[in-house]
Amino acid sequence: MNDKDKKPVTIESIISTVKNYQPDADTEMIERAYLVAKEGHQTQKRASGEPYINHPLNVAAILTELQLDDTTIAAAILHDVVEDTLFTLEEIKDMFGDEMALLIDGVTKIGQIPISLVKKKDPAKSKIDAEREKLKEEQMLETYRKMIIAMAKDIRVIMIKLADRLHNMRTLKFMREDKQKRIARETLEIYAPLANRLGISNIKWELEDLSLRYLEPEVYYDLVKNVVQKRKDRQIYITEAVKQIEEEFDDLDIHASISGRAKHFYSIYKKMKRDNKEIGEIYDLSAIRILVDDVKECYHVLGIIHSHWKPIPGRFKDYIAVPKSNGYRSLHTTVMVLGYPIEIQIRTYAMHQISEYGVAAHWKYKEAGRSVSAGNAADKKMSWLHQMVQLQRDIRDPKEYLEALKIDIFSDEIFVFTPAGDLISLPKGSNPIDFAYRIHSQVGHHCVGAKVNGKMVPLEYKLHTGDYVEIITNRSNNGPSQDWLNIVASSDTRQKIRAWFKRENREENIQHGQELINEELRKLGYIPKDLLKENRLEKIAEQMNIGTEEDLLAQIGYSTAHLNGIITKLVEMHKKELAENTPPDISAMLKEIKIPTQNGKPAKNDSGILVEGEGGFVVRLAKCCSPIPGDEISGYITRGRGITVHRVDCPNILKGAELDRMIEVSWANTKENIYVVDIEIICNDKSGALNQILAVPSTLQLNIKSVHATPNKSNKTSTVRLGIEVRNSDDVKRIMTQMRRVKDVYSVTRPIDPASD
Ligand code: MN
Repeated sequence: MNDKDKKPVTIESIISTVKNYQPDADTEMIERAYLVAKEGHQTQKRASGEPYINHPLNVAAILTELQLDDTTIAAAILHDVVEDTLFTLEEIKDMFGDEMALLIDGVTKIGQIPISLVKKKDPAKSKIDAEREKLKEEQMLETYRKMIIAMAKDIRVIMIKLADRLHNMRTLKFMREDKQKRIARETLEIYAPLANRLGISNIKWELEDLSLRYLEPEVYYDLVKNVVQKRKDRQIYITEAVKQIEEEFDDLDIHASISGRAKHFYSIYKKMKRDNKEIGEIYDLSAIRILVDDVKECYHVLGIIHSHWKPIPGRFKDYIAVPKSNGYRSLHTTVMVLGYPIEIQIRTYAMHQISEYGVAAHWKYKEAGRSVSAGNAADKKMSWLHQMVQLQRDIRDPKEYLEALKIDIFSDEIFVFTPAGDLISLPKGSNPIDFAYRIHSQVGHHCVGAKVNGKMVPLEYKLHTGDYVEIITNRSNNGPSQDWLNIVASSDTRQKIRAWFKRENREENIQHGQELINEELRKLGYIPKDLLKENRLEKIAEQMNIGTEEDLLAQIGYSTAHLNGIITKLVEMHKKELAENTPPDISAMLKEIKIPTQNGKPAKNDSGILVEGEGGFVVRLAKCCSPIPGDEISGYITRGRGITVHRVDCPNILKGAELDRMIEVSWANTKENIYVVDIEIICNDKSGALNQILAVPSTLQLNIKSVHATPNKSNKTSTVRLGIEVRNSDDVKRIMTQMRRVKDVYSVTRPIDPASD
């Protein structure tokens, strides 16, 4: 369907075209590129059966139409060499230099971006869902386009890629149908918009029309048939209108070139879909284009047109005063000519070059140094291509422009993939934490590790464009770490982490803060409630200007920074209190717990304990360590529960104890009480072991009161706890000694249970 396809492209035709527009071109380099590509592709064939070399030659030929520089043309000829032949990038660099290697590497890398387009919408879904999905899809496509630009590093790489895609689309008929559809869709959604952004409407239209042809062949061919017919019908009016305009201009001595122009199929298709119209209802299938020398003449010509034919209201657009974001400038109006609406576009030759060739027009055509009025500021900010368009406007020297094209437009962004193949853009320097938070705040909060390209990496690992990132989460993870704030790259991530600390998890933080304080106090041997009484945390919070007690706890919960200071303050307050309080009156306390005597005789004291050598007090044996006669013991005067007796090696006696309340106790040695002690035995978990263990007490004439056996699957042992009736510690010693002799027994201890006292 293209003239370009009919005339075979040869290296000679390319070189002669380049020489035409760039007389000092390095044609020897282009020729060498050709020889290398030819050798590289050797016997390879295209799907059409042609020698492969025809493809790069055609790509180069497309770029000569854009009048690109010699290096770009040579790079186009070499563009598939690294990807498809035995030549390496290093060899290309040695042969052609860094600039060439950069261009070819760029094209190769873009070719390797795995593009997975969002699946077609489910028609059953609600309108809102469909809209949302469409928006998501558009964002994703936009990210792909940005990624392509980012990977290109030089605009000429995109030019080559677009030309490559254009030639592939022109020869798509040789592909399998499913491949045709996939490639056409990718072209329509990624490459055509890219061409549009670069302002290369020439390539944009052709990519769109070709995509439509493969995506919706019936619609396309119907359109072609109809449009051709309608154009024929309409041609008479166009011809007449052009004739009249020409006559008018001759009289006024205006030098303009006037042409009738067929509208592109895809734009008609879009219009039909958008306005829900049949082909018969679309009038402006053709347009007239008028090119003049300067801007003044554009408005002059517009005035003449409007004075001759009636303009249709609402159809006049001044893209000269307010250019499109891709730099397109022109006047558009629709007037009634002989009863039919005809669109007329008026622009300068320079504007026309830019509209056809976009950024490429810059080294092709320079408008005499005039500044271009700025477009809508908000639009410009939104447009990621703005920087490039700005560049295009600001830089007048083509050489300088080429240099500027190498600037990384998205040097502050990277593009990475999710395991599902979705593409995500992040600020440069981002790590897996930034990635996790971008996926979802909850993923971020519970992130515990990450894999990049299948390998485990530390969370501070710096991600690179093209990385595949997988986040490992753990639901029971407490939340982000304070350190993350120092290593994340995105301010967005930082904000989400702070929000977690501050707001979303306030309740959790308060609780966590309280736990941290209690834990720390217990480690120091205190009973937390003794140190936290009298709203002491509230007072500390006030002193520290932190707010309420809850605010203080919340802060400790998310950042342990204040913890030590607060513990120190609490201990100080506690010590001060102890110092201020007069020591307890021991004799008064003892008097209170003395068991009243009956008939002058002391009451029976079943505990068999003497307090300071005297019997007859309310005494309790601590359950945690179950002291028995013979054990070294110590007493503690509790508040309201008499004296508790512990073994001296029991840690509970020291816990939060007030030393003033410790009191000397001893065994009365007169009573033959029976006590139950627990003995813990770890033994081999096999049948028979328990029987042997249970046999031991009876050999010593001791009774077993309870038996608990718990198997430990992890090491094939069993923990057996026996409650045994004894008279004193000698009994205990005997049974423990005896027990240790049993074959399958590993250890025998007298446990202390810190949970009870
Ligand atoms: Mn190619």
